[in-house]
Amino acid sequence: MLPLALPAPYDYLVPKGMQVAPSQFVVVPLGPVDYLGVVWTRPEGETPPQIERKKLREIIELVEEVPALPRVSLDFADWVASYTLSSPGMVLRMMMSAAHAFDPPAPRYGVRLAGPAPERMTPARARVLAAANNGLTWVKSSLAEAAGVSTGVIDGLVDTGALSAEPLPDWHDIPLDLTRQRATLTKEQAEAAHDLLANTGDGFGVSLLDGVTGSGKTEVYFEAIAAALSLGKQVLVLMPEIALTSQFIARCQERFGARPAEWHSGVSAPLRGRIWRAVAENKAKLVVGARSALFLPFPDLGLIVVDEEHDQSYKQEDRVSYQARDMAVVRGSLGGCPVVLSSATPSIESLVNASQGRYRHIRLGVRYKAAGLPAIAAVDMRANPPERGRWLSPVLIDAVAATLSRGEQALLFLNRRGYAPVTLCRKCGFKFECPNCSAWLVEHRFRRRLECHHCGTFVPIPETCPNCGAEHSLVPCGPGVERIAEEVAELFPEARRVLLSSDLTPSISDLRETLREIEEREVDVIIGTQLVAKGHHFPGLALVGVVDGDLGLAQADPRAAERTFQLLNQVTGRAGREAISGRGLIQTYMPKHPVIAALVSGDRDKFLEREIEARREATLPPFGRLASLLVSASARDAAESYARAVALAAPPAAKIQVLGPAEAPLSVIRGRHRYRLLVKAAREADLQAYLRLWLSQMPKAKGDVRLAVDVDPYSFL
Ligand code: ADP
Ligand code: ZN
Repeated sequence: MLPLALPAPYDYLVPKGMQVAPSQFVVVPLGPVDYLGVVWTRPEGETPPQIERKKLREIIELVEEVPALPRVSLDFADWVASYTLSSPGMVLRMMMSAAHAFDPPAPRYGVRLAGPAPERMTPARARVLAAANNGLTWVKSSLAEAAGVSTGVIDGLVDTGALSAEPLPDWHDIPLDLTRQRATLTKEQAEAAHDLLANTGDGFGVSLLDGVTGSGKTEVYFEAIAAALSLGKQVLVLMPEIALTSQFIARCQERFGARPAEWHSGVSAPLRGRIWRAVAENKAKLVVGARSALFLPFPDLGLIVVDEEHDQSYKQEDRVSYQARDMAVVRGSLGGCPVVLSSATPSIESLVNASQGRYRHIRLGVRYKAAGLPAIAAVDMRANPPERGRWLSPVLIDAVAATLSRGEQALLFLNRRGYAPVTLCRKCGFKFECPNCSAWLVEHRFRRRLECHHCGTFVPIPETCPNCGAEHSLVPCGPGVERIAEEVAELFPEARRVLLSSDLTPSISDLRETLREIEEREVDVIIGTQLVAKGHHFPGLALVGVVDGDLGLAQADPRAAERTFQLLNQVTGRAGREAISGRGLIQTYMPKHPVIAALVSGDRDKFLEREIEARREATLPPFGRLASLLVSASARDAAESYARAVALAAPPAAKIQVLGPAEAPLSVIRGRHRYRLLVKAAREADLQAYLRLWLSQMPKAKGDVRLAVDVDPYSFL
């Protein structure tokens, strides 16, 4: 199997004297190029193809420096490929996305105090020797920093023999400590942990850990992690926003005395290589990662935890489109390993699985420290409108003022980056639109430009209207977080403010620093996008104000209500997590909307029951199955006519319905016109078999026309 978009593995000859076994890495020729691939197993019962011997090429080399993939990885790749209708080679490619793992491991060197002091002593050298005089092996750059010298000074001291170079231990050489004192669990937590351990003890099983924000879900699943680790097994914890998990990592460190391995796109390529190897060699025991960590080659996985299991970012849409939460359950089942799904607002899919007995439902009803959950109220914007050109109602402004006067923190949440979503010319009505997408350009005042949130195109904010030439006629319409931050600055000039938005906080370390400042109460008002909504524990936060609670409700998406509920519940759940009591205020023009009403009443279960009923009636997931086929092309006609041809080729089937093609709501992205077809199937129908048949019967796409299949789609734009 080559890590390429090919439909199946290729056949090669094993040269004389070479022994290969399934799942080993080999180098093979394909056309003029040599590729690293994996010896695959042929599905049982499949006869080898009759290929003339002289047409077969030989394996070039068996790669023995890295461990072979675990067998379960091969099964998993086949399973994911077949379910998502993608090529198994592309899944293998995700499994191999650590090129440096195949480099010979380079030992890393540090320095330590060794020989006599050098003959020629300088103040800089003296500082280095003083700093190094603690018996430790230092990373060269940290010693240089500690002594306030350049690394050249250190190299000089190695040359004189005063310092010696020593191999540095790898991070995974620091073993986890499973004997540490753990938190004393409350009665409710202890019962949940007991229940969880009963369900994670032996082989595959899924537990849904469903507990209000701050109830101690993490403490509870730490018990299951500790149990798996003490059996010598590996543990994987998936998180939706790995960049924001510094708190979790610190907690792991406190609990297990060592850092877990981190796996996400922010990890440098050489480190990825080292982590991949350590996982494959069963040395990395605890891994915390983004969805792609699911494809790491764990030989002895004993537990998978999916934290914030409802989160949308578990769904990957490009290339292989998969839902990592669902695939975690598959990985668990193939590898005989238990899975824990954790959330304060579980997905409807998981709740239905729990209610039908497929998952064990474990609930935590009360917060650990706080007196109770935050009191949530709706602010009716019709009765309490903001001033003209402003976005905060007097009710919310008063609440922020009262919070600040008590020395507590307030968070204002608006899930929209930038300053204003649309810019308009007051004279001629011209609106700035992206040249490549059917979308408005968003003003980013901080960076002084108009930006497309779909393709990244940007232009500087012009002085004059490009349409009528009028000067100073451009007006921003509607609010983004930057505009809210400006309003807060005018209202509360004394308050220490921080604006958190992914485009303004470029590096993970900056972000972690800002989060630390909030945690340690060096900030009074936080203005942020969903970057601040997830998982954080801010002890001083008393008030959460949602600037636009209606945002997201209007979308034509079967999950719009569920998603808005989850997001707003999560963000208001940041308030009052410790001693101070918390409050959430949701600005809305629709206070009676079921989502807003459920947030205010706190009656989550009733809301979800209604949502579940509505899904059942409409046979939407999880009661029916969906797949989306997206046709795109640079010419609109080409996209439309191919989409029609695809629809005509759809085989008839009793329990499967094909809807469309229809122009996608976002009809152009990056200059490509888009048409959607939606396949709606009964739960018992074999959707994949149907799609495979259909794909085999459709006409070939010509020119730059593309077809993308997305099974279980989450995006309908
Ligand atoms: P959740 O994951 O449900 O949001 P956490 O596990 O993060 O909740 O717990 C919230 C806070 O309460 C954390 O700071 C955690 O350390 C603390 N906490 C929870 N349970 C306990 C416990 N039994 N003993 C000490 N601290 C606890
Ligand atoms: Zn664009």
